[in-house]
Amino acid sequence: LEVWVGESNILHADLDAFYASVEQRDEPRLRGRPVVVGGGVVLAASYEAKAFGVRAAMGAAALRRLCPHAVVVPPRFAAYTAASRAVFEIFADTTPLVENVSIDEAFLDVGGLRRLAGRPEAIGARLRARVRQEVGLPITVGIARTRFLAKVAGRVAKPDGLLLVAPDREREFLEPLPVALLWGIGEATASRLAARGITTLGDAAALPVEVLAAMVGAPTARRLRAVAEGREIGRTGGGPRRRSIGSQNALGRRPRDAAQIDAILLAVVDRVMHRVREARCVGRTVVLRLRFDDYAAVTRSHSLPMATAHTATVLAVARALLAAARPIIEQRGLTLLGLALADVDGDTAVQLVLPWAAGAETDGLVQDASDAVRARFGSDALRPATLLGHRRG
Ligand SMILES: [Mg+2]
Repeated sequence: LEVWVGESNILHADLDAFYASVEQRDEPRLRGRPVVVGGGVVLAASYEAKAFGVRAAMGAAALRRLCPHAVVVPPRFAAYTAASRAVFEIFADTTPLVENVSIDEAFLDVGGLRRLAGRPEAIGARLRARVRQEVGLPITVGIARTRFLAKVAGRVAKPDGLLLVAPDREREFLEPLPVALLWGIGEATASRLAARGITTLGDAAALPVEVLAAMVGAPTARRLRAVAEGREIGRTGGGPRRRSIGSQNALGRRPRDAAQIDAILLAVVDRVMHRVREARCVGRTVVLRLRFDDYAAVTRSHSLPMATAHTATVLAVARALLAAARPIIEQRGLTLLGLALADVDGDTAVQLVLPWAAGAETDGLVQDASDAVRARFGSDALRPATLLGHRRG
């Protein structure tokens, strides 16, 4: 096995607007139109919808304002899971070194394959063609020396593109990119930097690190410099599975109707997401646990394309999982409902994989405010209005 250290051997492969692309693939009348997957909250938006500023995690009001003619379709998680499986089979067929990042995204190390399969760029092009032909979906491939750079290359190449960053072009590639591309740089930090005329990684790299540290703090300043200079810091995904944060409600044995069960779900989601944000974490996998009258229990889970601390997003997924389990609930009687957010990670480590910050603004503000109230007055001080009249616990 030849190992080409220091070459651009890492592929980051990421399906474009995954859920929305599956809908457009399966329903020809949706092609070329702004498609939004979700209901109360946007889970995914097609590129036609993104052109109007629609982003994942956006609420219904913002969606109506930005893109009133969007075609909104309910999620079909079974179809997404099947598509994901087919794509990951092509990944596994490409190289044995696949690092799973999420349902629609992976890193592939193709460094040892040059003799067998050719150069990484050719491997990436072939991978894209196969996913298009065999699964019917657009996928973007970024190629670089490190996972971080491969991921950034993919972001620049999106949608439906391929971009290779050669090792000797890394600085040149990074310098014009916006500082907000870096995880740990939120909107507040980015606008603080912009006020001082620093908008690109190159601007940041040109400043003495002490000056930068005075603006954004030493750790962020060090990271900005390291990235701008092509030295990778931190992980971009993968690695060991992280812990989960969860909560559950025992319901007793009296029968509950769908509205009551939904109110309980809302309370549990609200509680879990409050703890997730309090721990300054984000998570990617929503796990719903149900126990029945006969003590049998089932678990249903779904992994989002990106990590979140957003209540409405997690609630939308939890509701879809609950709806899918409706027949078994009606048959057997629900006695316990639990929910966990798994694949949880610190929120600064994953901001790069959150392309939806813009859409979450308003909801984020409401969340921050309610978290602040609860921090001061206790966790019962504020609850979603739908929970009024329902006892907690
Ligand atoms: Mg994707």
